[in-house]
Amino acid sequence: MAHSHGHGDHVAGDKGFDGMPGVTIVEAAVATLQKAFAIDTWPEQVGSIDLGQRVVDVIPIPGHQPAHVAYYDRKTGILLTGDHLYPGRLYITDFPLYLASTRRLVQFTEGKPVAQVLGCHIEQSTTPFVDYPVGTTYQPREHRLELGRAHLLELLAGLEQMQAKPVKLALRDFTIFPRAPR
Ligand SMILES: [Zn+2]
Ligand SMILES: [Zn+2]
Repeated sequence: MAHSHGHGDHVAGDKGFDGMPGVTIVEAAVATLQKAFAIDTWPEQVGSIDLGQRVVDVIPIPGHQPAHVAYYDRKTGILLTGDHLYPGRLYITDFPLYLASTRRLVQFTEGKPVAQVLGCHIEQSTTPFVDYPVGTTYQPREHRLELGRAHLLELLAGLEQMQAKPVKLALRDFTIFPRAPR
C-alpha cells in the first residue's frame, strides 16, 4: 500500500492495515519511495509498480509536500495526482519544486492517453472560479472530481505566469494557492 504523500489526512488509515497478511505499507518518505519503486534519481526519474500484466508509473512531484508522487495507470490512462492537482485549493509549500514537478508531469503525459486526472480533494463549487470556504463539510454543489490533461497545462501556464511573484490565483476549476509550509 502506497500513498500520494505524507500529510496526515492521507496516511491516517495506515494503522488499520497494520499486521494484515499480504500487505506491505510503503511509508511516504523519499528514501522509502526510492527504494520501493526503483527511483535512483529523485525527483527526475520515474519509477514503477508492476502489478503483473499491468504497470503503474510512479512520478515524483514534490512541491505540495516533499514526498509527493503521482501514479499513472497505463491500462486505464488514469493519472492520480494526490494533492498536487484537484478541483480545489492547490496549496504550494515549495514553489520552485512545485513548478518543476508540474513541468515534469506535463512532459511525462505528452503523447500518452490521459483519460482522467484524479486528485484527492474537492473544494471547488460548480460555480466557475468559486471555491467553498475552508472547513466546509457540506458541499451540495461541488465540482466533479475528474479533471483532464488540459487542467494540467492550465496549471503550468498559471505557475509560469506568476513565477516572479507567486500569488493566489482563482481559475475556473481550481485555485493556485502558494503559502508557507505548515
Ligand atoms: Zn496534502
Ligand atoms: Zn490532502
